[in-house]
Amino acid sequence: MSAYSASPSTPRTTSRTPTPPRTTVVNVEEFEMDGRSIETKSADHVPIVFKANPFKHTYPILRHTCFGVQGKQTCEVRDTTTNPMFRDMEEDDPQIQYVAKPFRSKSVQKPYRLRCGVMNYAWGKQSTDSAVAQWMQEGDPTYQVEQRPYAELWVGTHTNAPSYMQESTGSSSNLVSENSSFANQSLHEFLQRNPATLGDAHTEQFGTDLPYLLKILSVATALSIQAHPEKSHAERLHASDPDHYPDPNHKPEAVVALSNYKAMCSFRPLPEIAHHLQTIDELRALVHEDMVERFVTVVGSDGSSVEAKKEALKSIYMELLLCDSARVQQSIDAMTARLRNSTDLSWVESTFLDLTVQYPGDGGCFQVFFLNLIELKPGEGLFLAANEPHAYIHGDAVEIMARSDNVVRAGLTPKFKDHKVMGEMLSYDTQPLHIFRPNNEGPLTSYCPPPEYPDFKLLRVSLTEEWPGVSYELGKSSGCLLVTQGSATLLYCGKDCTIPTARLEVSVGSAYFLPSRLSVYFSRMTDFVAFIGECQIRAG
Ligand SMILES: [Zn+2]
Repeated sequence: MSAYSASPSTPRTTSRTPTPPRTTVVNVEEFEMDGRSIETKSADHVPIVFKANPFKHTYPILRHTCFGVQGKQTCEVRDTTTNPMFRDMEEDDPQIQYVAKPFRSKSVQKPYRLRCGVMNYAWGKQSTDSAVAQWMQEGDPTYQVEQRPYAELWVGTHTNAPSYMQESTGSSSNLVSENSSFANQSLHEFLQRNPATLGDAHTEQFGTDLPYLLKILSVATALSIQAHPEKSHAERLHASDPDHYPDPNHKPEAVVALSNYKAMCSFRPLPEIAHHLQTIDELRALVHEDMVERFVTVVGSDGSSVEAKKEALKSIYMELLLCDSARVQQSIDAMTARLRNSTDLSWVESTFLDLTVQYPGDGGCFQVFFLNLIELKPGEGLFLAANEPHAYIHGDAVEIMARSDNVVRAGLTPKFKDHKVMGEMLSYDTQPLHIFRPNNEGPLTSYCPPPEYPDFKLLRVSLTEEWPGVSYELGKSSGCLLVTQGSATLLYCGKDCTIPTARLEVSVGSAYFLPSRLSVYFSRMTDFVAFIGECQIRAG
């Protein structure tokens, strides 16, 4: 029996106590269940001891207000997986009476379930092989998966695939009935009408909309080699060529692997590029010989400035981008013939071969010799600033980015390629990649881009037997929760309440909008992974 099913104002009685027990309510301040006992006094100064089990993890539920105790002053909290105040304690001991007294939250804050849009781009994994299609089916067993690629799932307010408020199902909370009044309203519309859910700081900085877009990607064949312009450049491109650049916003992005996730990104260290140009005849044939010599000289010289090196890289990369298609085809033919006879292919060479099969005759295949080739393990992430070339090659991932669809493409796509714009805009940085490693010492990993990109940050919640529960408090930013594995109980509480007033089962296939200031506690049911997208509200 839990306090949810009992009347909060009626204490439980037993046959061995003929008169109803005297019930006192005590307030217990915030505490950590780390094995200590907590001693306090009831309103009429009866000492009360709450004995905690030695838990592996701390129990961070906010603040508790509950408990009536009579006769014996010891309660043992025996369960870490739900709010201990709502558990029956000492079930067989008639001397102990208690009542949980849930406070009604004055706040309207609670999670809102979302219905998400799907993109069927050609590079996506096919039908039920796709993590996107699987996610949709997990969330709704009646969802019909068709024989076609399922590339992306979008959570957010972008007009190309906006999320909608969905009536919740399977929840024991009052969220069901209350959410139904918003059913079929778009999240964008909901936020316009309920700006309080975003919070003042958010609306001041970003207006009444989400500045980010959260996605699942399921990649079968490589995405285009692309880069995203800075904000002012995006605005100029949109103004001059709205057909090819339909979005005026910038699009920094971060990706976190759900499976092994292969990608090309940013330029390799210059000596590696020089080595490739010197040793791969078919690549060298695409650029002028004297340019290769100049590049190798600049790169090899200690006296070369960073700017000179960037300029040399830009010249030779643009030469590669603008190479005519007949020469590209010739080089691809020569190189594929040579590699297919080789029994000892490097990872880069076999990737080149795969790309030539996926995109025959596309010069973008050669970029694998210019860009870093990486494979992220599950939980590892990568941040890509503006003007960094990249192409995701294979695997499943969660991606978060500024709310934009502004892409400049330069290869590995039948779509419009803007080689000149791409070549001119890139930063030509060869700094180490911005890789995030997962936190193996706890259930939360934060993937936070540099502060000049306030549009988003990402948090991964990972619950295991070792880390079965964790709390998280949304600050001044609201959030979008995307569950990608397993299930958990979510206890939640708005900013004015002192105990979690409701619970919700969240599982793979579901996504929620979480209002700002919401406090949540995740409690593992099965091994669980979820992501929370937020924006970075500036201090002050
Ligand atoms: Zn991108």
